[in-house]
Amino acid sequence: MSIKIKNVSKSYSNQTALDAVNFEVGDNQVVGFLGPNGAGKSTLMKIICGYIKADKGQVIVDGIDVAKEPMAAKSKIGYLPENNPLYAEMYIKEFLNFMAQLRGIKKPQVDAIIHKTGLKPEYDKKINQLSKGYRQRVGLAGCLLHQPKVLILDEPTTGLDPHQLSSIRHLIRETGQSTTILLSTHIMQEVEAMCERAVIIHQGKLVDDRSLSQTQTDNKQIIEVEFNYRVEEVALEGINQVKKVINTKGFIYQLEFSTSSDKRSDVFDFAYDNGLKILNLQKINQNLEERFLELTARK
Ligand code: ADP
Repeated sequence: MSIKIKNVSKSYSNQTALDAVNFEVGDNQVVGFLGPNGAGKSTLMKIICGYIKADKGQVIVDGIDVAKEPMAAKSKIGYLPENNPLYAEMYIKEFLNFMAQLRGIKKPQVDAIIHKTGLKPEYDKKINQLSKGYRQRVGLAGCLLHQPKVLILDEPTTGLDPHQLSSIRHLIRETGQSTTILLSTHIMQEVEAMCERAVIIHQGKLVDDRSLSQTQTDNKQIIEVEFNYRVEEVALEGINQVKKVINTKGFIYQLEFSTSSDKRSDVFDFAYDNGLKILNLQKINQNLEERFLELTARK
C-alpha cells in the first residue's frame, strides 16, 4: 500500500478542515481527490507531504509515518502544489539541476526527465518564457527528479487551455503507470480522464470512495460517438442492449446502455458493418458528476 490515511483530523483555529478522514491508495493507482473549494483537499495533501501536521490520526507513505520520519517520507513523495512555485528567471535545465542539488541528488537524470516530461523542444528557454502548460511540465519534472514512489498533485490542470490540458493529462496517465498518484481537482472530467478511482471529500469528511468502473456498474453506461455521416437513431437502437439514443449535435450521438460491461467494441462493429467511420468515441461517466453533486450539496 503506497498511502494510508488513518483517522486524520485538522482544524485551523476554530475552522474544521478535516474530520476523521480514512482511505488508502494502492501501488501505482491514480486516484482523483474530489471536493468543492474549501472541502479540505489541499490541507490533506499538505499533511501527506509533511508541510503541516495533523491534529489527530496518522499518515503512512510507503510504510513510513510522515509525522515520525518526515525526511524519509519526503524522499518517497513528489509534491506539486497548487500554485506550482518556480524560479521564473532560471532556464529549465538550470532549475532542474538546482532542485536536484537542493534534494541532494548526486547524479540527477535531468536530461532523461526533460525527455520524459516532453520539455525537450523548450529546454533552452527561461521559465518565464514558457506557456502555463510547459510550466506545469517543469513543475512535474522537478517532482520526479528523485524518482518518488508517490506523486501528490494539487489541482495540476487549473488554468490550462484544452491542448495543454490534454497533453498534461496524457503525461500524468503515463507517469501513473509506474507511480502512485493522488491528484486533487474540483472538475469531474479530470478524474474520468486520468483516474481509476475517485475519493470525494465534503466539508472535511470523506463522503465517497469508489472505483470509476464501480460507479459505472452501479448505474448505466453511456457512450458518446461521432460518426462521419448522419445515422438514423432507430439503426443505433438496434445495437445490443441500447436503451436510449440521443443525437446531441451534428453526427454526435449518446448511446445509453442498460449494462455495465464495456460496449465500445459493439459500437465499432456497428460502424464497420454500416460502412461508417468513427471520428471520436468515449465512455461518459455521468454518474460520477451526479454523485458528486448529490454528495457535496451544501448542508
Ligand atoms: P480545498 O483545497 O479543498 O479548497 P483547503 O484544504 O484549502 O480546501 O481548506 C479547507 C478549509 O480550511 C477551508 O474552510 C479553508 O478556508 C480553511 N483553511 C485552509 N487553510 C487555512 C489556513 N492556513 N488558515 C485558516 N483556515 C484555513
